[in-house]
Amino acid sequence: MTALKLTNICKSFGKVEVLRNIDLEVVEGEFVVFVGPSGCGKSTLLRVIAGLEDATQGTVEIGGEIVNQVPPAKRGIAMVFQSYALYPHLTVEGNMTLALKQEGQSKDLIAERVAMASRMLSLEDYLARRPSELSGGQRQRVAIGRAIVREPKLFLFDEPLSNLDAALRMNTRIEIARLHRQLHASMVYVTHDQTEAMTLADKIVVLRDGRVEQVGSPMELYNNPANQFVAGFLGAPS
Ligand code: ADP
Ligand code: MG
Repeated sequence: MTALKLTNICKSFGKVEVLRNIDLEVVEGEFVVFVGPSGCGKSTLLRVIAGLEDATQGTVEIGGEIVNQVPPAKRGIAMVFQSYALYPHLTVEGNMTLALKQEGQSKDLIAERVAMASRMLSLEDYLARRPSELSGGQRQRVAIGRAIVREPKLFLFDEPLSNLDAALRMNTRIEIARLHRQLHASMVYVTHDQTEAMTLADKIVVLRDGRVEQVGSPMELYNNPANQFVAGFLGAPS
């Protein structure tokens, strides 16, 4: 089954073309990483998938349904950003449950989901705290927990580790890999970090200037980069 299918996605801001003719398929359960230099369109592409931006052209299909007209909250996705974007006035639990409450989910369901997510992320002891009382790594785990409780078909991550120091970045990366195995979810993950791409991805999509430069498994790209640009990002040292 296809979790996500992009067909000829184009996006312009005014006269500036940011995404050009992007085609991509993500199989259910797959971990797909977008890499590319700053400004190449990674975040814009995620935002188009999420419905936070409209594509100028092309279709976005999630779980077999064309969702171009479907609002973000109804797309069956959850997004984790680089800046945790937690609500400072809400507790950890409040942040994790807000979307479910807004959807009108039952108290039992919400309690069950919070228990599951906080166990997976070792946040059980922090549910009553506010974001200001947490470390950066804990805040990012709350942001991930907020995504997990919605049990999305598709997770979107936009450079989720780039605000963390090196040790935390590695721990959180391992945690995300574990969650991917446990949840059997499809994930699309943006980074400009080679190690993250190489270790997390089933499939890497190299973006350059709004286009797909090359798609392949980490080993394929490492051993057979299509050109110097890809090699510079992921290839074997020459
Ligand atoms: P990346 O995430 O790969 O660093 P972005 O998707 O954020 O790249 O940005 C791609 C290009 O689109 C950049 O040149 C950026 O300035 C431009 N851009 C992004 N969002 C907007 C916007 N809302 N209005 C105008 N230009 C934008
Ligand atoms: Mg970005």
